[in-house]
Amino acid sequence: MITLKEALKLSKEELNNFKAELKAKIEADPELNAYIDVQNIGDGVPIAIKDNIQVKGWSITSGSNILQGYIAPYNATVIEKMTKAGLSPFGRTNMDEFAMGSTTESSFYGKTLNPHNSDCVPGGSSGGSAAAVGAGLAIAALGSDTGGSIRQPASFCGIVGMKPTYGRVSRYGLGAYASSLDQIGPMTQNVEDAAILYDIISGSDEKDSTNAKMDDKVCQNLNPDRKLTVAVLPHYVENASEDVKNAYAKAIEALKNAGHTIIEREMMDAKFDISAYYITATAEATTNLARYDGIRYGNRVEGENLQDTFIQTRSNGFGDEVKRRIMLGNFVLSSGYYEAYYVKAQKTRHIIKKQYEKIFEEADLILSPIAPGTAPKFGELKNPIDMYLSDIYSISVNLAGLPALSLPISKSEDSMPIGLQLIAKAYDEQTLFDGSMSLERAINYKKH
Ligand code: GLN
Repeated sequence: MITLKEALKLSKEELNNFKAELKAKIEADPELNAYIDVQNIGDGVPIAIKDNIQVKGWSITSGSNILQGYIAPYNATVIEKMTKAGLSPFGRTNMDEFAMGSTTESSFYGKTLNPHNSDCVPGGSSGGSAAAVGAGLAIAALGSDTGGSIRQPASFCGIVGMKPTYGRVSRYGLGAYASSLDQIGPMTQNVEDAAILYDIISGSDEKDSTNAKMDDKVCQNLNPDRKLTVAVLPHYVENASEDVKNAYAKAIEALKNAGHTIIEREMMDAKFDISAYYITATAEATTNLARYDGIRYGNRVEGENLQDTFIQTRSNGFGDEVKRRIMLGNFVLSSGYYEAYYVKAQKTRHIIKKQYEKIFEEADLILSPIAPGTAPKFGELKNPIDMYLSDIYSISVNLAGLPALSLPISKSEDSMPIGLQLIAKAYDEQTLFDGSMSLERAINYKKH
């Protein structure tokens, strides 16, 4: 597959031919189920779009039954920015319902296969976007990351996935899951393409009050030769699989050989991350999903009266995982438990942020696993607690609002990709991309 950098140089005619071929290739592989559909718009470079990002005139459903029939009346800011830069939304990709999940199994549209092994999940929630790029069915894609949903599927599918600093990319037009954690980001074949797409979609936007209103760009200064200090976390990695530990050791060697300084640091027990995340995320999700009542958007199941219509619509429209989270979120926000759960989670979140700041007093970047192992088989993460626990390495980054990039490092014995992530200070995407490019070069994953 051509890279984004190369595709941006194609003529209109070359692009149109390329898109016709791409569409035929996608249609020839329906089993993979990476795309929900192809709804090509415009003459630009085709980019696959997660089904929770508004594209005017498209059916956009967040992978849910409750949004069937809804047509987006406007473009998300990222789509506007993309279009201005010569890119065009090409198709919408499969995802866990309302971005809640780690496997893409909770989608209304059925499962997406991992392009490296069809018995395995592609990861989630942006599993469709990751599988599309990993299978050579997209040049690049957009995903969203609330607790790892860009980085984890990128790691499982052998591609690059980047979550920007909270506030860097406008959330206007992104179907909200947990508003204080959500960010849209690029999913690409290599680090440079991620930087190109990041530059295009990031920047100020009046329409998002949490937008950082910063317009500095990374591509013009990309420098993989900078020598950096990278913190590694020996104890933190102990709970990961042997495959991940080996990849971690390999990445440290590669960073040393590339001339970077390695320092060892510690993080607190990641079980606190899980608790703080699942309380915060479900509390915010409960509030965000209250708008799906059958009156304003999508599917409606008529009841005997208004209240009954709400109940029927929501009971019928939401899947099990979404319902579970709505109940959890209501519980932690209820007056009797608010102090005990929600407030405590916010305090823990603050401590997590501080511990990162402390490490960044001495380090430019942190090297961390992204998931405890390679892509699990279908059904293996059916127990919700197991699924939540599998997020241990990804969610603290969102709680602290930091930028992070997951890139492929090696393959397991059974040939499944293993990615690791680099994490940077808030708003220091430049160092994140410089360091990631250096690691990518030192590892040379494509050779495997
Ligand atoms: N797996 C996490 C969850 O289910 C993260 C999802 C995401 O980042 N959207 O909440």
